[in-house]
Amino acid sequence: MKNAGFTGWLSGVWMILLLWPFAVQADPGPSMESRFVAKAGAMPFNPRYLYPSSAETFSMDWLSLPEERIMVLTFDDGPDERDLAIVSLLDRQEIPAAFFYIGNKIKNMPHIVKEMSTTRHEMGYHSYRHQQLSWLSAKNLTADFHQGKDVMSKLGLAFTWFRPPYGDFNRRVVQEAKDQGMETILWTIDSRDWAGVAAPVMARNVIRRFHPGAVLLFHSTHANTLRALPEILQAATRERYRFVSLGEWRRTIQTASCRVSGRNCPPPAVDVVAPAGETVPEEGRPMPISAVAPKEGRVIPAATVPLLPSAQIRFMPDG
Ligand SMILES: [Zn+2]
Repeated sequence: MKNAGFTGWLSGVWMILLLWPFAVQADPGPSMESRFVAKAGAMPFNPRYLYPSSAETFSMDWLSLPEERIMVLTFDDGPDERDLAIVSLLDRQEIPAAFFYIGNKIKNMPHIVKEMSTTRHEMGYHSYRHQQLSWLSAKNLTADFHQGKDVMSKLGLAFTWFRPPYGDFNRRVVQEAKDQGMETILWTIDSRDWAGVAAPVMARNVIRRFHPGAVLLFHSTHANTLRALPEILQAATRERYRFVSLGEWRRTIQTASCRVSGRNCPPPAVDVVAPAGETVPEEGRPMPISAVAPKEGRVIPAATVPLLPSAQIRFMPDG
């Protein structure tokens, strides 16, 4: 018996020695979780992967805001010439959207980014080379964010939101984005425009997945996306949905979280009055580093909403 125990102990030691090189690797590459996320772009989407930089574990309850019925349009993989056509369509209906840009494309298409910075739409970061960031070493991950910030700051702009390519992230990636001043956001409805889906099919698939708090994923690089949009926008209006910016989405979600859990409550609202000749940047928008004073001042809505019983919650327009 004593011998058998010793043999077992010895084989345990051998096992530890064999596995040691794997165990001591500080950066083991993509986790199971990140691989799952990379493949899980299609519904059903696990809400825990929607807003990983959020202060709390994300719950679908946060999106159950029947009186609000808000959704967000997001377009990845630009800057692209098509962005301006998308914006012109959205602006006719005063609908905001968020565009997630790839760093090395910004370098090649600064004119699109400059043009976009004059609109009310948000611009977020989508990595410098569109690679799976969870595979990068800590050093290269930081370098990627620095490159992206540099190319934007040369245009006098900064990112506040971040979306990892392929939806591939882990805790390290989200923390790095946070350290660089960006919040990570994924999506709940994948249009699958990247898969070459025909416009009517794309519209039908997106429309039947509408839900309060939805974040819709599109790409500016596909012609069918622009073709499908009018039908999607019409259906949203018909179903009493309102498209909002990511900044307003976040405030709404925080209020919902506060109501559901009593935690993550936004601070009380304070109205900010911009004196004539100055402007206060809207939350969620890329902030010009060298701000150009507009012709006249205006009152902007508070960055957060007051805490009211749910029946009384009303949100101010986002800009
Ligand atoms: Zn992408």
